[in-house]
Amino acid sequence: MKSLGRFGKYGGCYVTELLIPALTAVEEAFLACKDDPAFNRELHRLLQDFAGRPTPLTEMKRLGGQWGCTLVLKREDLLHGGAHKTNNVIGQALLAERMGRKELIAETGAGQHGVATAMAGALFALPVKIFMGAADIKRQYPNVQRMELFGAEVIPITAGSQTLKDAINEAMRYWTAHSKEAYYVFGTVAGPHPFPTLVAHFQSVIGTEARAQCLEKFGRLPHTVCACVGGGSNAIGTFRAFLADSEVQLVGVEAAGEGLDSGKHGAALNQGRPGSLHGAYSRCLQDEDGQIREAHSISAGLDYPGVGPEHSQLRDSGRARYVAATDDEALAALLLLTKQEGIIPALEPAHALAAAQKLALSLAQNDILLITLSGRGDKDLGEVFSWLENHAQK
Ligand SMILES: *Cc1c(COP(=O)(O)O)cnc(C)c1O
Repeated sequence: MKSLGRFGKYGGCYVTELLIPALTAVEEAFLACKDDPAFNRELHRLLQDFAGRPTPLTEMKRLGGQWGCTLVLKREDLLHGGAHKTNNVIGQALLAERMGRKELIAETGAGQHGVATAMAGALFALPVKIFMGAADIKRQYPNVQRMELFGAEVIPITAGSQTLKDAINEAMRYWTAHSKEAYYVFGTVAGPHPFPTLVAHFQSVIGTEARAQCLEKFGRLPHTVCACVGGGSNAIGTFRAFLADSEVQLVGVEAAGEGLDSGKHGAALNQGRPGSLHGAYSRCLQDEDGQIREAHSISAGLDYPGVGPEHSQLRDSGRARYVAATDDEALAALLLLTKQEGIIPALEPAHALAAAQKLALSLAQNDILLITLSGRGDKDLGEVFSWLENHAQK
């Protein structure tokens, strides 16, 4: 491979030797395409005409007034598909097409990345196989139906705990055997090189647009930029455009679940240690023996025990800060934005909103607080109503 995909001491490519040729082919295709004008013209056309970019930057006048700052949201909830995941799957499907691959494969936990990949497969007329734990299939049946409606084949994994971890193992195994025909669409900025670099590239459109929109609307940069962190792709996609603006504070928000002390959370940067997970070295949740611990969050997208290696580096260098919000705080923030501004956010970015409300305490009215609203909340109504019922009983 041309590069080891290192972010300081993090990142890399810790996979079986059998997978190296497949990953090298993806890296080479990516390096050849990323600055190719024809590739970028087509990517731009799809993002604009199919997906609806650019997404707006909306000022929340009422909530900003209450919080005492200038509050703006980058509206990835308005992207086709309902979340930022569309940026990534369109980019990778286009890459797969350029590589002459005949099939897309992906793993999925709660099903959101599976649905996005199935959508891209339909758009590019490429058959899709989605590897999904049998337990997850039961829990997330509507997403299975969406994938099937797009024409994807959902493959139930009955090994181990029948969840995401087992689905990733199976997808990797399948890819090893079919690397000439299949393209593996990875869902976030984690996993082995080149995925953290490649997914960040396709998501960086979020921050590039947001930075330009902020300058155009307000004539100045944000004071603070805030995004939720599961694997970390919407956050890296937002942060990258601001890395060189040293005066802009970058804050990532993880899932504190039932509380950081409860042990039931998804806060790999706040509470994890460096270790190996899914082919890369990064921070992840582990027990004393270095076994990966399960993550817990009310939001499926933040329920991941690891995090992309670039975030681990940004944390260690101090360029970005990472905080956490609990399930209850995220629910309250979701209800606040819904009632006050007429926008139902997904539970994932509701964590960013909850943390931002605290950050706003130290801001002035003129200071711009920019939050990436990574997706819309229609998918979360079940969680919202069962939470409301539980709280009415308490
Ligand atoms: C999947 C998802 C996330 C988490 O993924 P990242 O890679 O951390 O961005 C966050 N928000 C929404 C709406 C999602 O669907």
